[in-house]
Amino acid sequence: VPGLPNLAELPPPRLSFEFFPPKTEKLEEQLWACIRRLEPLAPRFVSVTYGAGGTTQARTHATVSRIVAETSLTPAAHLTCVGATRAEVDEVARGYWAAGVRHIVALRGDPPAGQTVYEPHPGGYDYAADLVEGLKRIGDFEISVAAFPETHPTALSAEQDLDNLKRKIDAGATRAITQYFFDTETYLRFLDRCGAAGITVPIVPGIMPVTNFVQVKRFSAMCGASVPDWMGKLFEGLDEDLETRRMVSVVVAAEQVRLLQANGVDEFHFYTLNRPDLVYAIAHLLGARAAR
Ligand code: FAD
Repeated sequence: VPGLPNLAELPPPRLSFEFFPPKTEKLEEQLWACIRRLEPLAPRFVSVTYGAGGTTQARTHATVSRIVAETSLTPAAHLTCVGATRAEVDEVARGYWAAGVRHIVALRGDPPAGQTVYEPHPGGYDYAADLVEGLKRIGDFEISVAAFPETHPTALSAEQDLDNLKRKIDAGATRAITQYFFDTETYLRFLDRCGAAGITVPIVPGIMPVTNFVQVKRFSAMCGASVPDWMGKLFEGLDEDLETRRMVSVVVAAEQVRLLQANGVDEFHFYTLNRPDLVYAIAHLLGARAAR
């Protein structure tokens, strides 16, 4: 019977984990408990997001610096084009280079609060492809960029969006990390389209374990990820039942990643939301084991 691959015959998956920089002491503790729990899984890198509108620059920097100083992990700092001149963005990048940070996740960013349409900052980098080009002038950073299996919500067309991804790769990015998705088929067809467009760098699937279905549904509507009807059915009636929701969540994500694995995918990026448990369980199901 065709089915899932035999884990015993597969090499361990290559993992990366995404965190957001904490705003309070309590969230700082939560983040560090999360980092400590996931660290033994020896991810290839861990990335730290940059707040909408460039608001967390100092917090992103502080978190990345602490990861360098206190862990065995390789950090990747997210950086966006929003709300800053090229000189200011370059300054941040030079700071990272000087601190030994060699991996940047280069993004355009979303419009700051109160603004619905993205407008490039006067004197800033216009789009992510421009930022990649600028970063490459500063240092030979490893650069990851964003990719959208369901097309970026404001792209004129899927083709234009794919051209944009290609521009980011041609400018020097060596990996794309996808927006999260729940329909595995959509991602696999996206890989086919990337291949046909001559994109050869890894397109790493972004995996979002769903703890709060209501929240994810709301957020997905904004960021261009569709939530299939079958998922609504699986989480039906569980809004007040966290324990069952968490178990269902692991099953949903485990089915997704194992199906990806069955299709040859061996690299996964997890949106942890600074919560380790579901991610740890799903990584375990993929074959990841703590280094002893
Ligand atoms: P781009 O690649 O610049 O593309 C954005 C849109 O503009 C696309 O529709 C593209 O087709 C279009 N476009 C590109 N170039 C041009 C052009 N020259 N003329 C006209 N249109 C053009 N946001 C944050 O604020 N902080 C983060 O830390 C963060 N991390 C993320 C991590 C991942 C893995 C992902 C998938 C997203 C992340 N985001 C983050 C969200 C991201 O900033 C938004 O999705 C943003 O709207 C698009 O960013 P991008 O880098 O894909 O932009």
